[in-house]
Amino acid sequence: MDVQFLKGVGPKSAMVLAKLGLKTVEDVLWYLPRRYDDRTKLPDLVMLRPGEAQSVRGTLAGVQTRSTRGGKVLIQAILDDGTGQVVLTWFNQPWIARELQKVEGEVMAFGQVKEGQGRRLEMASPEWEAVDVDDDSGEFARIVPVYPLSEGVAQRTVRRAAASAIEYFASQMDDPLPEKFRSTNRLMSLGAAISQMHQPESEEKLARARHRLVYEDFLYLQLALQMRRSEVKQEVGIGFPISKVGVEEMAGRVDLFGEVAEHDTRDLISQCAAMLPFELTGAQRRVVQEIWDDMERPFPMNRLVQGDVGSGKTAVAACAMLAAVRCGYQAALMAPTEILAEQHSIVLKRLLEPLGVIVTLLVGKLTGKNKARALEKAASGESQVLVGTHALISEGVKFEKLGFIVIDEQHRFGVVQRMALRQKGVEHPDVLVMTATPIPRTLTMTLYGDLDLSVIDELPPGRKPIKTHWKKPGDREKVYATVRSLIGEGRQAYFVCPMITESDKMQTQAAEDLYYRLSEETYPDLSVGLLHGQMKAAEKEAIMEQFRAGEIQILVSTVVIEVGVDVPNATVMVIEDANRFGLSQLHQLRGRVGRGEHQSYCILIADATTADAEQRLAVLERTTDGFKIAEEDLNIRGPGDVMGTRQSGMLEFRVADLISDGPVLEQARQGAISILHDDPILGKPVNQKILQKVRERRSEEALISVS
Ligand code: ADP
Ligand code: MG
Repeated sequence: MDVQFLKGVGPKSAMVLAKLGLKTVEDVLWYLPRRYDDRTKLPDLVMLRPGEAQSVRGTLAGVQTRSTRGGKVLIQAILDDGTGQVVLTWFNQPWIARELQKVEGEVMAFGQVKEGQGRRLEMASPEWEAVDVDDDSGEFARIVPVYPLSEGVAQRTVRRAAASAIEYFASQMDDPLPEKFRSTNRLMSLGAAISQMHQPESEEKLARARHRLVYEDFLYLQLALQMRRSEVKQEVGIGFPISKVGVEEMAGRVDLFGEVAEHDTRDLISQCAAMLPFELTGAQRRVVQEIWDDMERPFPMNRLVQGDVGSGKTAVAACAMLAAVRCGYQAALMAPTEILAEQHSIVLKRLLEPLGVIVTLLVGKLTGKNKARALEKAASGESQVLVGTHALISEGVKFEKLGFIVIDEQHRFGVVQRMALRQKGVEHPDVLVMTATPIPRTLTMTLYGDLDLSVIDELPPGRKPIKTHWKKPGDREKVYATVRSLIGEGRQAYFVCPMITESDKMQTQAAEDLYYRLSEETYPDLSVGLLHGQMKAAEKEAIMEQFRAGEIQILVSTVVIEVGVDVPNATVMVIEDANRFGLSQLHQLRGRVGRGEHQSYCILIADATTADAEQRLAVLERTTDGFKIAEEDLNIRGPGDVMGTRQSGMLEFRVADLISDGPVLEQARQGAISILHDDPILGKPVNQKILQKVRERRSEEALISVS
């Protein structure tokens, strides 16, 4: 229904409301206040103290406009309530003075109270409005909604429309949540919640109203994710005969070339133990078992392995891939960068080839004969393990019998790439996603709610916690001297150059500058290498190889080394202009050291230019726990930024806020489980409105994934 048919809203107000996008009664009901003026407890001005945001009420005891020496127009209005005064100030908004002059009665103002000149209390640029006697008559002591406005729209217009919409329509709002579900979960009805949001009777009722709406937001998301998850599980997948590996039945099986495969009579656990140069940690063992159990089930696996940098995800992936291969399938590992793909292929070759498993690297920069050869090995099945970048999902790549997929560092790939690689498999291959960026649990549940989760929550033994120091640029020489002495003890170091722009070229320039400075001036006697994104793959590989071999002592690099590089003898990470990096990026960079038996150091060289930067650097100095860092990152930057805009659409809610409403997310998840337990496809009549909402949610996500 059109807003103009609301009581108290005529065609003129309707036009004004349209500026806020409010065209229907429904729009108005959902146009929720930005905050509230709690007029039930307005302080006497004499009681006002600096430091808090406050609502105040009084009459104007004088309005002055004057020009400051800087050429600005300053407006000062004295608000008086008989007990005390506060000065309201505005700069350069002369129209405010004109409007203030017109006020006859009282004024409400809201703003931060601070101490001004002569110890008088001030509010700078407060929100204000004349107390509307008509509107407020008899409603003096209430919690009053304050709506977001745009130019030319008065609070009063929106308040009136909302009040009228509530009075006549809130109780008729169609509640998608069935009554029984609401009462078991102690949720208000939609109409009551919306009414309380606009016109709260008390703080407590307002909180319950908000809870109901937040819960509902999260519920649809959780239902959408859980339904997607169970749909995938209903597809026919591969039941890898894991527990039969090594036993007689598996002997004499024909391999991919039609020949009888040589039979390793050991079970998988023994084969993995023989493959790895170390014992798995308890956490690794548990996760490997979770994966194997999942592989054995005849449904497609979609599992996320979360583990902090250095927790040993590669070994877990190797055990999983070996299982797939021993069950007669090919496995593929997709990494976000060529350097990382190359490194994975080196590590996997070292582990798997002694067991007779052939590992092949497939990256975009391969050309000619090499590329043709790699493609052929994938297509014929000669190679059982393929390692590559997104080149793996390009047109020309075919597999003989791809049954298992590992995706490393998932946050760089979208859902689409995950799906694209899946399409290349036989039927529905199992998918293992590994992420090193620890994501706060609230976000994991949101973004990866369709994946099962395994967590590696333990680092390999003998690691010494990395010592992190934040140094000012003036201390650079001392830092350089420290690095020199560590190199003297046989260690190696990384220097990461400042991140200046997104541009690859500028980045390269910065890396080259730092490289020349270090190799010519600071360490002319040491062997210094350079790595940046614009180098050819072969060059990068050669440099990395020299660094691994210890021939390069200092590696100067752009952030290309951010992910996954593993050289245990490198124990110093110097990050120049560290204030320019984000928190999780710094954590990733730091994760390049602390991988061996020696004490490692991370040195952040930076001036804290902003409060944010200072907070980030301090967090990093204080903790090496990736999960804590992720939580802090979420607090500092907000979910959209943490996950990148591509995925943030999924994080948009009508009312809910992922940071502050985390606990409700868990409740909603349980709610979704209980609904689907009774009605897995939301087919029952009582759930039809929920189904409708979930469909809307899912179609939005579909749009996001393809964009
Ligand atoms: P990430 O989880 O960051 O990918 P990696 O798989 O690169 O970590 O492993 C980090 C380092 O720890 C590697 O040098 C690896 O060989 C070593 N490592 C992994 N697991 C163990 C273990 N159980 N015992 C000892 N060292 C291990
Ligand atoms: Mg890794």
